[in-house]
Amino acid sequence: QKFVYDFTEGNKDLKDLLGGKGANLAEMTNLGLPVPPGFTITTEACKVYLDSGDEPAELRGEVSAHLEALEKRMGKNLGQADDPLLVSVRSGAKFSMPGMMDTVLNIGLSDASVVGLAAQAGDERFAWDSYRRLIQMFGKTVLGVDGDLFEEALEAAKEAKGVTVDVDLDAADLKKLVQQFKEIVTRDAGRDFPQDPREQMDLAINAVFDSWNTDRAKLYRRQERIPGDLGTAVNVCSMVFGNLGPDSGTGVAFTRDPASGHQGVYGDYLQNAQGEDVVAGIRNTVALAELESIDKASYDQLMKIMETLETHYKDLCDIEFTIERGQLWMLQTRVGKRTAGAAFRIATQLVDQGLIDEAEALQRVNGAQLAQLMFPRFDHGAASVLLGRGIAASPGAAVGKAVFDSYTAVKWSRSGEKVILIRRETNPDDLDGMIAAEGILTSRGGKTSHAAVVARGMGKTCVCGAEEIEVDTKRRRLTVGDTVVEEGDLVSVDGSTGKVYLGEVPVVPSPVVEYFEGRVHAGADDADELVAAVHRIMSYADGVRRLRVRANADNAEDASRARRFGAQGIGLCRTEHMFLGERREMVEKLILADTDDERDAALAALLPLQKADFIELFESMDGLPVTVRLLDPPLHEFLPDITELSVRVALAESRKDANENDLRLLQAVHKLHEQNPMLGLRGVRLGLVIPGLFAMQVRAIAEAAAQRKNAKGDPRVEIMIPLVGTVQELEIVREEADHVIAEVEAATGTELRLSIGTMIELPRAALTAGQIAEAAEFFSFGTNDLTQTVWGFSRDDVEASFFTAYLEKGIFGVSPFETIDKDGVGALVRSAVEAGRATRPDLKLGICGEHGGDPESVHFFHEVGLDYVSCSPFRIPVARLEAGRAAA
Ligand code: PEP
Ligand code: MG
Repeated sequence: QKFVYDFTEGNKDLKDLLGGKGANLAEMTNLGLPVPPGFTITTEACKVYLDSGDEPAELRGEVSAHLEALEKRMGKNLGQADDPLLVSVRSGAKFSMPGMMDTVLNIGLSDASVVGLAAQAGDERFAWDSYRRLIQMFGKTVLGVDGDLFEEALEAAKEAKGVTVDVDLDAADLKKLVQQFKEIVTRDAGRDFPQDPREQMDLAINAVFDSWNTDRAKLYRRQERIPGDLGTAVNVCSMVFGNLGPDSGTGVAFTRDPASGHQGVYGDYLQNAQGEDVVAGIRNTVALAELESIDKASYDQLMKIMETLETHYKDLCDIEFTIERGQLWMLQTRVGKRTAGAAFRIATQLVDQGLIDEAEALQRVNGAQLAQLMFPRFDHGAASVLLGRGIAASPGAAVGKAVFDSYTAVKWSRSGEKVILIRRETNPDDLDGMIAAEGILTSRGGKTSHAAVVARGMGKTCVCGAEEIEVDTKRRRLTVGDTVVEEGDLVSVDGSTGKVYLGEVPVVPSPVVEYFEGRVHAGADDADELVAAVHRIMSYADGVRRLRVRANADNAEDASRARRFGAQGIGLCRTEHMFLGERREMVEKLILADTDDERDAALAALLPLQKADFIELFESMDGLPVTVRLLDPPLHEFLPDITELSVRVALAESRKDANENDLRLLQAVHKLHEQNPMLGLRGVRLGLVIPGLFAMQVRAIAEAAAQRKNAKGDPRVEIMIPLVGTVQELEIVREEADHVIAEVEAATGTELRLSIGTMIELPRAALTAGQIAEAAEFFSFGTNDLTQTVWGFSRDDVEASFFTAYLEKGIFGVSPFETIDKDGVGALVRSAVEAGRATRPDLKLGICGEHGGDPESVHFFHEVGLDYVSCSPFRIPVARLEAGRAAA
């Protein structure tokens, strides 16, 4: 195993081994571009070091051999007293982790070689400033000295001299400062600053290895979902200097505009400076275009190199360069980050330039970027008052009146008000309020809090954990410092930035949504370009994808939107959603019915309502499949709250006017009360226990389908049975359903061809999928319940309780309710697919849990061979795009 690669030995495809920076330095070297010579120590060496606490035995020797070769090439030795070779030691992981890990520049300077450097450069100030920087950087990152100590000494030196900027310190001042810095190191680190250049280099290399595991690096990786075991490579590169006078400088450049994708000259340049000066923002940079008048030869060379890089990488690149006394050096390049909008535009521009094909264009964008483009935005030109800032939990721009409880949220929104639901944190009881609100704001909780997770699922704007905001639900107000926001005051919530504003900030709709809706958007040319690019990418995706995309929708309005967004049917109509609001009591009556007559009356009242709902739904989805799921409520959602009811009854009793009905109701609610409603009387169990319930629903479906047929419509209805654990349950329901359907067919003289299938959302169903397929024409994986039951996590509770801790500890990088757990839940899905198809080769297979709209999960469902994914209407474009990317 080889642990060190010269820049001439690597290439851009070796990012795993050489890290992004090392691989690209090698690639540029091999393209013949001017890269200062150097070598890269592999991530493998880092892994050995991190695992065993010691570097691999061979490393020292390999580094020596490469260093020797480098010295020969440069004609000088590391730290050589009369003419020192200096090197930088830089981290460089596979995925860029900007500013997270360590870098040490100017290695090789010592009390002796600083004099040689001064003589060689003909610039004493420069040499001592470089030495001062080395001791400071080395002291801080390698020896763990408190960085403030150096800063304070530097400040004191400037003050003593009566100047404000570093450049006004001369060589003598810097010489004194170096002495002070060395004393700081000795005092704070308990050892002298090493004078041996090789010792400097070895210590710096180990420090870079160690920086992989600093707290901030770990945190960054968790947030960006970068695996923790990759390790970092270390690049040892001969130093070039941008601070050797006016004919030197340093800059950054993009091969095209990372915000719009337009081609042109984009970047910044700083004369007579080193990289850190640009980052530190001490002096103002000039636009890259000005380099042309400063140093035309270098400018022309840079432009040519940028063209070479873009054609070579076939993508936007960003670049760091330095000019040392008129000689241009490339210090870094990589495929550059870009805004979501630019990603779509650049992908199509590159297709037009013939640099990439359509399949490759699909890999250049992703569903998260598309989702981002679909949210409305605040008009940033408008004046606004910032109230506070929290976590950007679910993007979007929402404006509304502040309300502090769900009841008010629902009441006000019914009367046409737009509201922002503000809570300390939310729980499942707030669901109605969250649905009613334009946006949600909480003062507690992180990215996986209940508010955040539910809001993301609903595509609703949410800022959570805005800690400066004091929420007082009792007094219905919030306070931030001296500012008080009362119920009814307007607030604006930006879920893309986490900012919360007082008053109404104007909102502009997303041109991309306007496009999906088939409306003319109100944007400028810029928006036209974006829409055109999105349109093209979506047609590439639709052209290649194998997965079909359906919607989870329970009303005609959602269904029609879904259709406009490209849905190819409904994968889940949750009929319990048809009984919310005023109809809730009808279901309550049904559940609590004591006698057959009471129950029949309740069912008879529900039938025409259900039928009317279905007629509308089938009409809006005419010609496309509609999967109607029979009633699946956790029972408690349809019963009065036991505590509230108990209090009411107790109060009435104390006044001696207890009402007979309430007493009866309380008794019944007690009888039906469940400790674990999610594992209780729901799904198929309810249908088996309450005679006539499922038959009523099947009749409503069948009669609605018959009516649509007679109206020359094309209803394609699939009846789905929820929460089945064993084929016997399904068989009983099927028999009853077949009977009802036959009756309706006979009575209406139509042939309905309704298919009957089941959800797979319990481990037992997945494990016995082969048997269940005997009685099911289709499976739809209910990955919400399947995740809940496979992990034993209550889907309503965990996000608010211990998930944050789990994410912090890295037990998972993302909630399994958000992205499918491939190894556990996914493995069950995979085996159920195989078993189901073994029994019934033409079994139709889909998924309708929340994962149906999650990019990573869509790729998994493609891979296991499902026929379709079903997701909320708003996620449909994302699912189409990701299904295309999975197939391309
Ligand atoms: C599921 O469990 O994944 C599902 C789609 O059903 P529901 O979310 O309605 O329980
Ligand atoms: Mg379910």
